[in-house]
Amino acid sequence: MRHIAIIGSGPAGYYTAEACRNIFGDDAHIDIIDKLPVPFGLIRTGVAPDHQSIKAVSRRYEAVALTDTVRFVGNVAIGKDINIEELQSLYDAVVLATGAPHDRPLDIPGADLSGVVGSAAFVGWYNGHPEYAQLNPSLHGTHAVIIGNGNVALDVARILSKTSEEFSGSDIVAHARAALAESHIRHITLMGRRGPHQIAMTPKELSELGKLERAAPRVDPVDLPEEGADAMLEPGIRKSVTLLRQYAANPVAKQLMVDFDFYAIPVAIEGDGQVQRVIVEHTELDDMGRSHGTGERYTIEASLVISCIGYQTPMIEGVPYEHGRGRFANDEGRILPGLYCVGWARRGPTGTIGTNKPDGLMIAGKIAEDIGDGTNKQGRAGLDMLLAERGVDVITFRDWQNIDEAETARALPGNPREKFTQISDMVSAAYKE
Ligand code: NAP
Repeated sequence: MRHIAIIGSGPAGYYTAEACRNIFGDDAHIDIIDKLPVPFGLIRTGVAPDHQSIKAVSRRYEAVALTDTVRFVGNVAIGKDINIEELQSLYDAVVLATGAPHDRPLDIPGADLSGVVGSAAFVGWYNGHPEYAQLNPSLHGTHAVIIGNGNVALDVARILSKTSEEFSGSDIVAHARAALAESHIRHITLMGRRGPHQIAMTPKELSELGKLERAAPRVDPVDLPEEGADAMLEPGIRKSVTLLRQYAANPVAKQLMVDFDFYAIPVAIEGDGQVQRVIVEHTELDDMGRSHGTGERYTIEASLVISCIGYQTPMIEGVPYEHGRGRFANDEGRILPGLYCVGWARRGPTGTIGTNKPDGLMIAGKIAEDIGDGTNKQGRAGLDMLLAERGVDVITFRDWQNIDEAETARALPGNPREKFTQISDMVSAAYKE
C-alpha cells in the first residue's frame, strides 16, 4: 500500500488526488488534509459568489472524495495540529497544495492605514472565509480605488458595484450582502500601472462589467493604443481590448462609475489613521513593456483602497521557499525527497482552475516514479492516532455533508447556500446527527 497526504483541498489538491487514484487504483490511500472544516479551498472562498457555474466543478471533486481510498481530513492545521516532518514520517509522499491565499504586499507608504485592504482579505470577507469574516471594510465613503488590472480586480469592482437584487442566485454571505446594500461607494478607480494592451483581464469577466444594473465602465479613449496594434495581441487579450474600445466609444452614465485609470501607479496613501487619498504617478512603458514613473503626480480622494496585485503562498517552517515568486522552491513539483508541491504553491498565482488538472497529473506521475510500491509507513492509521492523542476535532467528508446540508437549508430563496463563517458553527453543524 502507498500512503499519500495532500495538504489543501482546493482544485490543485483534488486534481492531484484524482490523478493518483487513476494511477494507483486501490493500491494507494490518499488523505486530503485541510485546515478548514470545509473542503474545496479557492472554489469556496476565492471564486466570486456570483460565478456559480465555475463553482459547479466541486461536484467532480465530490466524486473523488467519495471513493474508498480517498479521505477528506478537515479542521487539521499544519504547524499547529501536526507538522510536515511528522507527516513525512507517516506518508510516502506529502504534496503541498496550499494555494496562494496571502496578498503580495503593497509596498508603499500608507499601505498600513485603516481602509487599505488586500484582495485576499476583501474576497475572503465577501466569500465568508473565517479568517476575514470580521474585516468590516470601510464602505462609508463615495470613492474606492482598486489597484491592479487582473481578474481579481474585476471581481472586486463588480462585487462593489452590484445591487442587492443582482446578488440573487449567488452565495455571497449575509454580512457582506448587508454591508454592500448600505455602501455609499459611487465611484471606483481601477488602476493599472501599464496600459490596455497589458491588462490581465479575460473577455468574459470584462464583459460582465458592461452589463451591470446601476454601474458602468468608463475608458478614456486617449489611453487606447492605435487600433492596428491590436493584431499582435494574443486572441484572449485582443477580445478584452476590443471590449475596452467599445466602452470608450459608447460611454454610458450610470449611478456608479468604474473608471479605468491606465499608466498609473500609486506611490503613497495618505490619511489621518484612515485612508483619505491616494497619490498616483503617471507611468510610461519601456521597450520591454515595463512601467516607469514619469514624475507627474495627481491625487485621488478615496476612503477604501483594495490592492489586487497578486497572491503568495504562505511559508511552512523547514520547507524551501522562493521569495521573489512567492511559492515553494521546487523542480517541476519536487521540493525534497518525499515532499512535493502543486498548483499555485508550485507555479505561483497564475492560471485558471483548469490549469491545475495537468499540474495534478504531472505531480502524480512524479510520485509514481519516486515511491514505487510504497514502504511500510503507517499512513492514515498513524495520522488518526496522533490527531486523537492531540484532541483534534477531525471533520470527515461525511461530516462536511452535514455542514453542506445545513448551509443549503438556511439559504435565502433562490440562493445555493448561506455559508457558516465561524469555524465553531461549521464544527457544530458537522457533528449534528
Ligand atoms: P494577475 O492576473 O497576476 O493580475 C495582477 C495585476 O496586478 C496585474 O495587472 C499587475 O500588473 C498588477 N500589479 C502587480 N504588482 C503591482 C504593483 N506593485 N503595483 C501595481 N500593480 C501591480 O493576478 P490576479 O488578478 O490576482 O489573478 C490571479 C489568477 O487568478 C489569474 O490567473 C487570474 O486570471 C485568475 N482569476 C480568474 C478568475 C476568473 O476566471 N473568473 C477570477 C479571478 C482570478 P502588471 O501586469 O504590470 O504586473
